[in-house]
Amino acid sequence: MRLGISVSEIERKILCVCGQIIETPSDYMLVFVKKEMMEVDILCPNPSCFLKELGYVKFKVEEGKVSFEKAAFYSPFVTWNVARLGREFAIKTLKEHLREIVKKRIEWDRIEKELAT
Ligand SMILES: [Zn+2]
Repeated sequence: MRLGISVSEIERKILCVCGQIIETPSDYMLVFVKKEMMEVDILCPNPSCFLKELGYVKFKVEEGKVSFEKAAFYSPFVTWNVARLGREFAIKTLKEHLREIVKKRIEWDRIEKELAT
């Protein structure tokens, strides 16, 4: 059996507007800077990216417990990928990335501790 891939399969990757390939959800940089806004920023892994902020994860605190509220990518990043990869594939992949970030990458315990101090 032969197995090959086509050009479109090679190019079917999420890219930042700056050209940085984002292979997996672990490629994003996450920064918990907006403590008072209860937000974690999702940043492009390229340090010289002109866009920098690609999205955010919002959470809320109730009785000292941190819980997830909302996660989103900003429109320049989404539009760019939709234009390149087609709406269906881009939206599906970006949603998977958000889900993975929220479920596996954010250290909710650490945020809770940081907020308590
Ligand atoms: Zn970038």
